[in-house]
Amino acid sequence: MFNAYFLRRGYHVSDVGNIIAWVDSGGFLFLDAPQRRLAGLHGSKQSSRPLVSWSEDLVELVLRRQEDFGARVAFSLDYPLPPRSHLEPDCCPSTVAERIRLSALGAAIGYQLRRRSSMRLLVVLQYNGVGALRKYLEILEGELRSRAGIGLDEVDGFAIGGLVPHSARWWLLARRLQEARKLLGWDKWIHLLGVASPHNIPLIYYAGADSADSKTYIIAAAKRLYYQPPGSKPARIDLRGTNGARPSCECPACTSIDKLSDLRSDTKKLAIHNLYVTLQAAKKASEKHSESKLRDYLKQLSETNPRIKKAFREIAIPRPQRHQTQLRLSYT
Ligand SMILES: [Zn+2]
Repeated sequence: MFNAYFLRRGYHVSDVGNIIAWVDSGGFLFLDAPQRRLAGLHGSKQSSRPLVSWSEDLVELVLRRQEDFGARVAFSLDYPLPPRSHLEPDCCPSTVAERIRLSALGAAIGYQLRRRSSMRLLVVLQYNGVGALRKYLEILEGELRSRAGIGLDEVDGFAIGGLVPHSARWWLLARRLQEARKLLGWDKWIHLLGVASPHNIPLIYYAGADSADSKTYIIAAAKRLYYQPPGSKPARIDLRGTNGARPSCECPACTSIDKLSDLRSDTKKLAIHNLYVTLQAAKKASEKHSESKLRDYLKQLSETNPRIKKAFREIAIPRPQRHQTQLRLSYT
């Protein structure tokens, strides 16, 4: 997963290697959004580029960067909601309504201006409840008709955004996915932006995500945290203390060392290990295609994980038995 904000002109995915590029719009970096802080770019002093106002020109600039780079999957330019609005539906109603409108407009303009239809364009949804999502889809449907001449059912898929500041609230991830599935059904591809971890992947898959992305494996490595497979206790081992245990993991990083503490000063190897555990968790969740198998697996995990237990209560419409979409995971 790349970010359009950081892509330079003339840069192409083939310059990076033989990979499939997903390119996020960078809405939270171009525009004034709380997530800038998480990216270390809050405030103009730390940013190489100033904040810009939302405009149709910005939507086009982002789209062209995604196309020129050779994105296989791209995300529409969304306008993140203000802080805390996910938890407080009454927070800043005029700002929330306006940003929801601009996010829907950005998606419709993306479909209007897209030159390369082989690049799948996922519509990023910003909402803080069923009412807001209904409003978003209503605006989107009208704008898609008038600007791109297509219906809501003709878009490539959707992506739920705005949850990175709430990534530890798994019940909220499950709730937002369920709200989307309630209105969009199970036929549409739904991606969950930025919040996947080895421990919540089975949950977010069951609640409604077909794909997800994450950079938490790198952040955890920078904090010297060693991921353990889902169901393990502790979920992460802090390597800042001494740890002479031999790793039981079979990843390329662990098989090249003698003891866990060897990873303490090797962020790259630690990130590779964390990535491996995340991929294995995604693989395991996607293999449990049937709804009942996945539910049983989650029940088993909820015995040791209270966050899964709490989030499980949010799931009223579980993944259907015959839903064949493979769980995919991408990395930033
Ligand atoms: Zn490993």
